[in-house]
Amino acid sequence: MNRLLNNAITRSTVAIRASSNLTTKAPTAQSITQQNAQFDKVTHTGQAWDQADYRLQRFDTSAKQVNPNVAMHLVDQRPPENCGDKRVIYCDGGHPALGHPKVYINLDKPGVHACGYCGNRFYNSHVTQGEDLKIQHLNC
Ligand SMILES: [Zn+2]
Repeated sequence: MNRLLNNAITRSTVAIRASSNLTTKAPTAQSITQQNAQFDKVTHTGQAWDQADYRLQRFDTSAKQVNPNVAMHLVDQRPPENCGDKRVIYCDGGHPALGHPKVYINLDKPGVHACGYCGNRFYNSHVTQGEDLKIQHLNC
């Protein structure tokens, strides 16, 4: 039964590849220079490959799909939260079921302190004023 199924899948895959126009031959790696390199879409991890890279073989039959909503950029758009004169605050991600373990963040140093789990940022307005808002701390 499995052999019949595998033969059917192999035959249909060969038929799809033979009928598609996507079977263009990739250029060799030696023919790619900095001037003619064309990079594909950059992923959230920063990967982008030129047209000769062997890792593009996986996108022969379908296009590479990249999510434009990178979490790092979405968190960066959220302004830091003013915590008044509190010296220690906690962050649990904002939702008991969807958040993260509660972590305590010390706000004694001037600057903006980010949660190591979710990236939310907090500052003490008594200690942090003006140019101090440009100082970034990561609390893990
Ligand atoms: Zn958090």
